[in-house]
Amino acid sequence: MSDSQIAKAADVRRTFAIISHPDAGKTTITEKLLLFGNAIQMAGSVKSKRADRHATSDWMKMEQERGISVTTSVMQFPYKDRMVNLLDTPGHEDFSEDTYRTLTAVDSALMVIDGAKGVEDRTIKLMEVCRLRTTPILTFVNKMDRETRDPIEVMDEVETVLNIQCAPMTWPIGVGKGFKGVYHLLNDEIHLYKQGQGNRIPDDVRIKGLDSPEAIEVLGEDLIEELSMEVELVRGASHEFDLEAYRRGDLTPVYFGTAMGNFGVREMLDGFVEYAPPPQSRDTDTREVTAHDERFTGFVFKIQANMDPKHRDRVAFLRVCSGKYEKNMKMRHVRINKDVKIPDALTFMAADRSHVEEAWPGDIIGLHNHGTIQIGDTFTMGEDMRFTGIPHFAPELFKRVRLKDPLKMKALQKGLQQLSEEGATQVFQPFDNNDLIVGAVGTLQFDVVAHRLKEEYKVECMYEAVNVQTARWIYCDDTKMLEDFKRKASANLAYDGGGFLTYIAPTRVNLQLTQERWPDITFRATREH
Ligand code: GDP
Repeated sequence: MSDSQIAKAADVRRTFAIISHPDAGKTTITEKLLLFGNAIQMAGSVKSKRADRHATSDWMKMEQERGISVTTSVMQFPYKDRMVNLLDTPGHEDFSEDTYRTLTAVDSALMVIDGAKGVEDRTIKLMEVCRLRTTPILTFVNKMDRETRDPIEVMDEVETVLNIQCAPMTWPIGVGKGFKGVYHLLNDEIHLYKQGQGNRIPDDVRIKGLDSPEAIEVLGEDLIEELSMEVELVRGASHEFDLEAYRRGDLTPVYFGTAMGNFGVREMLDGFVEYAPPPQSRDTDTREVTAHDERFTGFVFKIQANMDPKHRDRVAFLRVCSGKYEKNMKMRHVRINKDVKIPDALTFMAADRSHVEEAWPGDIIGLHNHGTIQIGDTFTMGEDMRFTGIPHFAPELFKRVRLKDPLKMKALQKGLQQLSEEGATQVFQPFDNNDLIVGAVGTLQFDVVAHRLKEEYKVECMYEAVNVQTARWIYCDDTKMLEDFKRKASANLAYDGGGFLTYIAPTRVNLQLTQERWPDITFRATREH
């Protein structure tokens, strides 16, 4: 296998996720992207996600109805001469940890903004996560077929609230009922919008020149005059597209359109495959791994239960960082220091869900997991190293687990241990008593855990309130001091599912006082896997 074959395959790959506030149009735009990738024949085949807004109790049923399965978590499709990998992120904010970790596996993100609502809460949070790794962001301002806010105002808001420069790539011609299309600022072309083509690949009708006779004939003199003035203003007041600044995360190219009407999406996708970065280098504890490295490496960023009741196993999602995966190959599972043969990894070609024969840097493969794989695990060709930067977040909500049948303690412990390994929840065992405390970032996680304990481990449990408000992972190089701390603070200490020492604070004030009392002990709100 030559070096250049890997480099070539890596360079055509574009791996990304969509960040947006619920309802901005992520599902709709995903569907349109799959249309362009010829992965589906007609829009309407990706299930509606209404479920997101339902009561929390029937989560499993919802997820099934929603059609969220292992195979829709990653969608691969070809477009032009690129291979695109789109990683889905859960819509519900209770699963934000999952979203954060998925963002560690992409090379760029698409930010979808509702043109009427502008920048919303969840977008702000997700943008902060992208910042941690300076992930390049491309922006799509959606719903231009509705009465939106002034596009200049929307861009202003993106710049000030999200602290990123905007470079408009297309500019809307009219809004709402009067939405006629976009003017492409780089190509000097008008792209015309025709209603009623939302469910298929729309016609690509273009007019060269902003005020050509043809443009005036089609759009009318008044509209063209207005548009020319606006474009002049926008060009003067905004930033020009700068590839380097985009790749550094300092600037975002902005496209306008309507996902529902499937317009403006093609222009965005064309820009995306041209400008978005190919698979990027990634850090490990020993060296940097580049996508052109010949030897296979990858890390697990997500574990998902298989929704198909016939397949009770879980699937671990591995991002290939370098080299090539081939069917039946052996790889080193670094954490347990074992070589494992992977005969049947899953691939995610959206049109054809077959078993993967090969995968390249930037691709995601699904490994069947019977309990040995955890989030953050590294796989190599034998090299002893670990990818870094895949975070665990300190939970915000805590509950004590009580068994309905006290004889099921073993099964409960096993279940909680496995669920915490895959990141579905976090579990804490206090020093001073036999409680089992589960921690979550969102309340829905508790329901999921109870449901899965019952279905998968045959354990019925209840939750009780527990006097814990927040948790911090404890680090200290001075072993003597650490021992002292463990003795004196034992009432509030626990081990988490991974065996890490954790301070579980009854109140934030208590946490603050403890931190002040022990200035040489580090209290971390995140821990890496
Ligand atoms: P998500 O929660 O971000 O995945 O948003 P969805 O894709 O489910 O869209 C939320 C709602 O907005 C749905 O009712 C969509 O039909 C609607 N929607 C999405 N895109 C557009 C658009 O371009 N124009 C209009 N008018 N509605 C849209």
